[in-house]
Amino acid sequence: MERIVKYNPATLELVGELDSTPLNDIPLILQRSRAAQAEWAARPLAERRRTLKRLQEHVASNVDSIAKVVCQETGKPRVEAINADLMTSLSAAMYSVERMPSLFRPRAVGFGKLSIMMRYLRRHSYIQPRPLGVVAIIAPWNYPFGIPFSQAVMAVAAGNAVVLKPSPEAPFTGLEVRKAFIAAGAPEGLVQVVIGNGSDAGNALASSDVDRVIFTGSTEVGRKVMAAAVQRLNPVTMELGGKDPMVVMGDADLPRASAAAAWGCYVNAGQTCVCIKRIYVHESVYQPFLEMFSESVSRIKLGYGWDDPEVGMGPLISDRAVKDMEAQVARAVEQGGTVLFGGRRTDMKGHFFEPTAIVDVEQSSDIVQKETFGPIVAILRFRTDVEAIALANDSSYALSGSVWTSDLARGRSIAERMSGGTVSVNNVGYTFGLASTPWGGRKDSGFGYTHGEEGFAELLEPHHVHVDRGRFARELWWHPYGREGLELSKGLVDIGFLGQYGRAAALLPRVRRRMKGR
Ligand code: NAD
Repeated sequence: MERIVKYNPATLELVGELDSTPLNDIPLILQRSRAAQAEWAARPLAERRRTLKRLQEHVASNVDSIAKVVCQETGKPRVEAINADLMTSLSAAMYSVERMPSLFRPRAVGFGKLSIMMRYLRRHSYIQPRPLGVVAIIAPWNYPFGIPFSQAVMAVAAGNAVVLKPSPEAPFTGLEVRKAFIAAGAPEGLVQVVIGNGSDAGNALASSDVDRVIFTGSTEVGRKVMAAAVQRLNPVTMELGGKDPMVVMGDADLPRASAAAAWGCYVNAGQTCVCIKRIYVHESVYQPFLEMFSESVSRIKLGYGWDDPEVGMGPLISDRAVKDMEAQVARAVEQGGTVLFGGRRTDMKGHFFEPTAIVDVEQSSDIVQKETFGPIVAILRFRTDVEAIALANDSSYALSGSVWTSDLARGRSIAERMSGGTVSVNNVGYTFGLASTPWGGRKDSGFGYTHGEEGFAELLEPHHVHVDRGRFARELWWHPYGREGLELSKGLVDIGFLGQYGRAAALLPRVRRRMKGR
């Protein structure tokens, strides 16, 4: 059994250690999930809502103690844990409680042009949404509470049980997710945690008897998770990597745009799937933008921001990540780029790397095209709207992006043409905290949704029920077949799809007679 040992990447102090879950336990864990899910789904809706309201209250009243675990495991500033992990979780809990009453409401299915006929035949269809069963959540370490909690609360609101596999970089935060549900009075087995490495525990969970796998992580691992899930045809939701563009138009509010860039590039030390990684600036404002941006970034204080509220950027998750940043900067320079600022690890104790910007790079260079999971941004210029959109869309990733302009109509028009699941006009990144808005990527950034109506749709089975009052003895297409049946079918095609309504008076009584069994 593997032992997971966790250090704080800011202080290099030991956070704790724990055993990984034996893989042989997974079937038993899933058995417990099934039992808990049945118990949960059988509870009256009002009671389930009360439980999730208590969950929201529990998280809101324990913000600091949960944030402490998040900060110890990731090294991020306390305010970032509160804003990005805790508030997004609370927003998802609030949205879930709000939406629960309507989630399970049956809804009628219309028949379009066939409606009159279906009414005559006394038939109707409806969707009775029902829970999927057990949802596996495989989570990353960068928002180790915010991401799995918001996915779990929506899954549970939709009547499912959850098995969460947190990243081995954030196992204790994963356990906090479970603790919150237990404290709120959810059944013991409703939200369980599997501790372990991805290639063992993650792989075993993705290929186990679950009803959906929600994976959030890198594109490379996403492919492995899909390959594991395909063994049982488990449906998957893939929330993968990004390389978000920021497009700054000539008429943008530059002080706001440059302050946004300083936050959007370096929040969570650049380890956010929707951090800005490419900035395209109109040539007319390129120089002033660079100056304002550099000035904003120079005021970001590095450190461990648990006790010091002025720390604006924490460490990277590991020394390997720092080495990766060093290699990416070296490659950018090798490919013709210039380091505008940063570019080095610091001499501080933890895994710190300076906020970094690279200019003078080609669109085709690695620093513009490959994922950078750290505090490096590439800045390029453009001349026309069309060119800006083409550059922004020239990426294998398409997670989100932003356009900055004082002309909102132009902003909307550009945003509508940019790739990505979410493109904002004059804002960046934060819509993950608006749980009613859909979250998901395209291309190498994945597919499927968490959050919003679209997210709930993936957590419920749209169970279709079709009801026939049995007005007629038989259907036109039932046995026995024969010449008359063939003629009637062909006649119906002519009337229904070729508009030969003149034939209806002769044909329909024959159809009726046949359906009455005569
Ligand atoms: P990762 O892909 O290394 O790991 C994610 C999870 O998958 C972890 O729990 C890991 O243990 C597990 N895993 C690893 N190998 C596995 C395997 N073979 N089978 C099953 N599970 C396996 O990602 P990370 O380093 O934790 O997180 C950073 C990545 O996540 C970045 O690429 C980032 O862009 C992405 N991300 C995406 C979103 C989004 O919403 N699209 C959000 C956050 C992070």
